[in-house]
Amino acid sequence: MQVFVDMERCQSHGSCTYVAPAVFELGEDDVLRYEPDPDPSLRERVEEAVLVCPAQAIRLLGA
Ligand code: SF4
Repeated sequence: MQVFVDMERCQSHGSCTYVAPAVFELGEDDVLRYEPDPDPSLRERVEEAVLVCPAQAIRLLGA
């Protein structure tokens, strides 16, 4: 599973960090950091993050 965030779209809302804190975090500079190759067990969390992101900036690639 590959996670990609379009940083041009991301507006640092932080919604993804609430539903999948093991994958997404906002730094003190308010810039999003994320794990691009998270453990498959986190898939449902990442799928939820895709849904809740108000900027539709998160893509989930691969099986
Ligand atoms: S929810 Fe979307 S816009 Fe907000 S920090 Fe996460 S990727 Fe960025």
